Amino acid sequence: MAELNLGDGVMEKFRCFKCKDYLSVSPIVALPNGKSLCGLCYLSTEEITHKELVFEGFLKILLFPCKFKDGGCEERLKFDETQNHHAKCIYRLMKCPVSSSCSSKVCFKEMLVHISDCHSDVTATEMEFTLAVSDKDQSGVLLVCVHGVNLILKYNYNGSSGNLQYYLQHFNTDVQEMKVKITLINDVDSDYGFYLKEDPPSHFNESFYEDFSEIPNSKTLGLNNAFPLLNNPDFLKVIITLDIVKSDESEKQK
Ligand SMILES: [Zn+2]
Ligand SMILES: [Zn+2]
Ligand SMILES: [Zn+2]
Repeated sequence: MAELNLGDGVMEKFRCFKCKDYLSVSPIVALPNGKSLCGLCYLSTEEITHKELVFEGFLKILLFPCKFKDGGCEERLKFDETQNHHAKCIYRLMKCPVSSSCSSKVCFKEMLVHISDCHSDVTATEMEFTLAVSDKDQSGVLLVCVHGVNLILKYNYNGSSGNLQYYLQHFNTDVQEMKVKITLINDVDSDYGFYLKEDPPSHFNESFYEDFSEIPNSKTLGLNNAFPLLNNPDFLKVIITLDIVKSDESEKQK
């Protein structure tokens, strides 16, 4: 059946009584007072409800506006496909990843502009930083543009354990392949150094805000083992470089 694309004004009638989002997630249920709940609120309600199968059948032929439409998104979404879209929508509002003291909520599309305008101290031309090997906690965030691809890095080094944790994400959508190389160099004597190959970064998402213990694919390097190879440095330079193949380039090569 063809979808029904109704005006925004009419769609306002199809809002969940509890969360006020559109009724676009199944199962659609009704409360004793006759008000409808979306499938997400149904899971958390303790009230007695009954399923509204006929109404849900009608909702399934509608196209729903994106909940970030006021930010500029013009997508129309099928029932039960809205959550998927909202998680990836370039107009979705996100917390600023640079600092918890920055209270700005920024839409994904504007995030790079926000970071370079409001946090110019974290923007750099090279993705590199220096660690004082025996100092306790050193952490930071870096935003770097490499061959047209914006990458954001957060790291935390613990001098007592010698562990360097890091998390690298990219902001582009047309990136096909990335190879990450981490070079460790004795900051005083650069003859002592070596590099490691690492997995490619993931696309920037909400997990960037979590603590390292909560991020499933953050990386930990046990640097203690590397210190003898680096002639036991007091200061260690960490340089992250990337080889990037964009999908349009690999198309051309075909
Ligand atoms: Zn709801
Ligand atoms: Zn959207
Ligand atoms: Zn900010």
